[in-house]
Amino acid sequence: MSDSPIFPIFRFGGKKEGPALLISAGVHGDEYLPMLAVQNLIRHFENNPDEADSINGTLTLIPVVNGSAFALGNRCGEDDKDLARTCPGADDGTITEQVAAALSREIEAVDFYVDVHTGGTELSVFPLAGYVLHSDEKILEQQRNLARAFQLPFCWGTSGKLEGRSLSVARDANVPAIYIEYYGSHREASEATVGIGMDHPLVHGCLNVMRHLNLLPEEESTRISPEFVEDTRHDSGHMQICHPAPATGFYRARVKLGQRVGIGALLARITSPGSLESIEVLANRAGKVIVLRDYPRINKDDAIAVIAERYSGP
Ligand SMILES: [Zn+2]
Repeated sequence: MSDSPIFPIFRFGGKKEGPALLISAGVHGDEYLPMLAVQNLIRHFENNPDEADSINGTLTLIPVVNGSAFALGNRCGEDDKDLARTCPGADDGTITEQVAAALSREIEAVDFYVDVHTGGTELSVFPLAGYVLHSDEKILEQQRNLARAFQLPFCWGTSGKLEGRSLSVARDANVPAIYIEYYGSHREASEATVGIGMDHPLVHGCLNVMRHLNLLPEEESTRISPEFVEDTRHDSGHMQICHPAPATGFYRARVKLGQRVGIGALLARITSPGSLESIEVLANRAGKVIVLRDYPRINKDDAIAVIAERYSGP
């Protein structure tokens, strides 16, 4: 292992031929289960040096990319910039811009990339592997295969046009990449505080990707066939703009994560502190609820829910 000044970084393998895989967690400072999952992988390979040496290729693990945001326990760092909107960053910029530049270099140096997230403090996300609809059909197919290999129940392909993200850097460098989402603060409170093991879906998923890429030998196991939804609209995949709250107030969800809804379904009610009247928020598309706010207070224009809908129009 070595410590770069900007984030901790751990490297394993490199003694045998094979691809270079990067797995990162903590791009957002309030997403703890992925950080613990990556820590588990680091502990596992440090405790099993023979297995680490047998890796075909190299594995690079970053448990907490965004130390500034982690120190605050927030999505964003002390400069209030969202790292997932700041890539590729700048070495002479603010702290988040510097982290973005360092992360971008790590992404550009590998053959495959997995970035692990949760919904953080205020959102919960159905367990999914996401990827951008890359203009290169070969890379797109590699990304679909990576997403399937992680073995979460849902795979979501969205616009290749979003900028500033770790996956935008991977896209521009032609590095096949996926991001992972796995619930949010409630789940983190119940699982992360107890501690997670090697059988946790996030740890397992990373190992599954290593096996898929032949960094580790294949293992006989039961496979699930995830549901795939792809959406070609230009802003698909931008979770923070979907179903914006019409007012600041108390928030009550009226659907469940993973539920299928039709257009016009009641998603949530918002009640302002000074009134007993509630405003209804209705679904503006039909599909599966894959992101849902699970925090009792909401600001006007904050996202309430994301509904994944198949779309392949122009
Ligand atoms: Zn995140």
